[in-house]
Amino acid sequence: MIKMRPHHLLDILRDFGNDRVRDAHPWGASLNSVTQIVLSNPDHEIEFVLKVDSICETCSQLNENICEARLNEKLLMRVYNDRLDMDLFTELKIKPNTKMSLIEFSVHVSENMNVLDLFTSPNEDSFLRKKGTLSAFKRLGI
Ligand code: SF4
Repeated sequence: MIKMRPHHLLDILRDFGNDRVRDAHPWGASLNSVTQIVLSNPDHEIEFVLKVDSICETCSQLNENICEARLNEKLLMRVYNDRLDMDLFTELKIKPNTKMSLIEFSVHVSENMNVLDLFTSPNEDSFLRKKGTLSAFKRLGI
């Protein structure tokens, strides 16, 4: 079963709606293969996790199951990601290890669009995230 941190699935939806095709991941993470799996099976169950997920499994930044990547000199990616995913679980009123399909998750997010405001990374483009996410929902028939 595909395991997914909520913010990773929201990134996939944003990119899908914006027609953004990613090059091979610089750290070898399984972003492209997992993206293909979830988009080609939108009714397939995904387990939502608050830890290493199916995208992270092949990433060179993973050391003994801990992400060592940094967003910048001051901020570890896992500190930002853990806080973001905890807030996403809370705001979406779902618990870690909940299983739902891409369609079910998307419907849930479409009813709680304020969760997109939780993305505050220095690299974040909130306009592109909202535009891409709305476009992805339309393509998925939501
Ligand atoms: S950088 Fe960290 S969060 Fe991103 S895929 Fe690699 S291990 Fe996962």
